[in-house]
Amino acid sequence: MSFILRCTDCAHKAPYFPTIINCPQCGGQWREAEYDLETLSKTLPLQIPNRPFDLWRYHELLPVRNPNPTITLGEGGTPLIKATNLGLMLGCPNIFIKDERQGPTASFKDRQAAVSIAALKEAGITEMVVASTGNVAIAYSAYAARAGIKLWAFVTSLVPAVKMREIALYGSQVIKVTGSYDNVKRAASEFAQQRNLYQNMGARSIPSVESMKTIGYEIAEQLTAYFGPDNTSEGRSPLWRAPDWYIQAISGGMGPLGVSKGFSELKKMGFINKEPAIVGVQTAGCSPIVDSWKKDLETAEVVEVPRTHIETLATGDPGRTYKFLREVVNRKGGAFESVTDEEAFRAMHVLAKMEGISAEPAAAVAFAGLFKLVRSGVIKSGDTVVVNCTGHTMPPEKFVLGDNWARDVILPKEETKKETPKEGILAALSHVVPERFPRVVIVDDTTEARLLIRRILQSQGDFTLFEATNGKEALRIIRRESPDLIILDLMMPELDGFGVLDALKADPETESIPVIVSTAKELTREEKERLKGQIQSLLQKGDFMSDEFLDEVQGIIH
Ligand SMILES: *Cc1c(COP(=O)(O)O)cnc(C)c1O
Ligand SMILES: [Zn+2]
Repeated sequence: MSFILRCTDCAHKAPYFPTIINCPQCGGQWREAEYDLETLSKTLPLQIPNRPFDLWRYHELLPVRNPNPTITLGEGGTPLIKATNLGLMLGCPNIFIKDERQGPTASFKDRQAAVSIAALKEAGITEMVVASTGNVAIAYSAYAARAGIKLWAFVTSLVPAVKMREIALYGSQVIKVTGSYDNVKRAASEFAQQRNLYQNMGARSIPSVESMKTIGYEIAEQLTAYFGPDNTSEGRSPLWRAPDWYIQAISGGMGPLGVSKGFSELKKMGFINKEPAIVGVQTAGCSPIVDSWKKDLETAEVVEVPRTHIETLATGDPGRTYKFLREVVNRKGGAFESVTDEEAFRAMHVLAKMEGISAEPAAAVAFAGLFKLVRSGVIKSGDTVVVNCTGHTMPPEKFVLGDNWARDVILPKEETKKETPKEGILAALSHVVPERFPRVVIVDDTTEARLLIRRILQSQGDFTLFEATNGKEALRIIRRESPDLIILDLMMPELDGFGVLDALKADPETESIPVIVSTAKELTREEKERLKGQIQSLLQKGDFMSDEFLDEVQGIIH
C-alpha cells in the first residue's frame, strides 16, 4: 500500500491517518485515496493471479499497511452466479448475481467492516461508535470482536429485532434510538464527541469507500473467467472485462461510490476497456437520491419521514454523497430508479423461487429495479448486467408471502379415531393435497426453456408435469397422458408447433385440450391468423414474469 489522500475541495494532498478526518489545509471532510496506478498496472498482473480469491488479493489498492491475518474471516471472494431463469424470463440472457450474502456476516457490509477495522486496529483504536440501519453494526461487531475493539452500535428502534439481537450477540453495546436514521446518526455523533471516541463517518471514511472497490475488481475478474478478456478494442487486449451495468439497492450510496471508483482505477491501469453504467435503486418510500436526480437537482432534497418497511434503506438525507453519485451515474449513462416495497417483496419471492437465492428485502430492491429497467428498455437484451445481492433473508414473511404459504395437517384425535393410524394420516393429508394434480405437458426444444416453465409451475406446487422436446414426441405424450393443459413452443425440429396444433385439432380425443403458446418468434399476420381460435393464450418469451405466467395457467385450469 502506498497512497495519498487528495481533498475534493482544495486538492491538497496529505498522508493518511485513520483518526484524522479533516483536510489539514481547508478542514474539508471529503477526501479521496490516490494510488500509484502507473506502477501497479505493471506489478499487479504478475502478482494477483497467485493469491487467494478474497478481498486482500488487491491489498495494494486498500488503505491498510499490513493486512492482519488474525482479524480476517474470509471476506470478499463471493461467487458471481449466472441467473439463467431470470435471463430467460426477461429476455436478457446475460444477467449475473454477485452473491454478497455469502460473506462472513451475510451482507456486503463485511467488506467495509473488515477493511475499516483492520485500518483502525493499525491506528491503535480500541473503542468506537457506529450508526447503522442494521447490517453495518452486525458486520462491525463481528470484526470488532476479533480485533478487540469495543463497539457502540446506534440503531433506530425500527431495525428488526433479529438484527438487533445479532449485534448484541457479538458483544456490542446496542443503543436503540427512536425516530429516523438521520436522528440516529446525530445521536451517535453527539455521543462520540462527548466521550472522544472514534466514529465511523460513513462515506467520508476512507477504508469504507475503498473496501467497496473490491466488488468491482472481483466482478471484472469473474466475468473474464466467464467470457474471456474484452477484445473489443484495437491493439493490446485488456486483462479483464467489465459488465455493461452494475445495479445495487442504495441507502446512503457508499456501495456504488466505491464500486465505480474501483472500475475507474481498473480503467486507468488499462485492465478493462470501459467502465459499467451504474444503477442505484431505492424504495419509493425513501428515495431522495432518485427523486432529486430525476428533477436534475444539484443537491438532494431530504426525506424527513421515510415510509418503507425496508428499514435497511431508510437514509433520508444522503448529504454530499448524492453529488458524487449523480456525477458517477451521469458520466457513464447510468440511472437511478425507485420501486415500491411491494415490488421489492415480489422480486424477493421471484429470486428465491427461480434462482434459489433468498435475499433480504433491501437486496431485492435491486432486482425489482432490474425488472423495471429491462421492461422499460433502458437495459437492452444484449447487455451484460451484474446485480449485487447485498444481503441475506431477514424474516419478513408477513409482508412477502401473504396468507396461504403453509398447509395445516390436522391429525385425528386418539380417542375418536375409528381407522388405523395410517388411514387417519392419509385421510388428514387428503384434505391438504388432492389425489390428482392437473397434468401439464411442456413442449419446447430448448432445455432452459423447459426448465424455466417447470420451475414456475412446481414452485407453486400442484401440477403433474411432462416434457417433450419436439412435436412428434409431444403428440405421443399428449395421447398417452390426456393432459389438462399443453404449453407449446412454435419453432421446433421434427414437427413444429403449428403442426402439433393441426394434429391435436384433427383428433376428437385431443381437440379440446387447452393450449398456451409460448414463443420467441415475432409472429406474422398469417401465423397469428392460423393460431386464432386454436389456442387459449399467447406468451412472448423474454417478456413475462413467473406470476403472470402462473395466473394464465390457473385461469385456464381452474
Ligand atoms: C447497506 C445496504 C444497502 C445499501 O448500501 P449503500 O451502498 O450503503 O447505500 C443495500 N442492501 C443491504 C443488504 C445493505 O445492508
Ligand atoms: Zn482541503
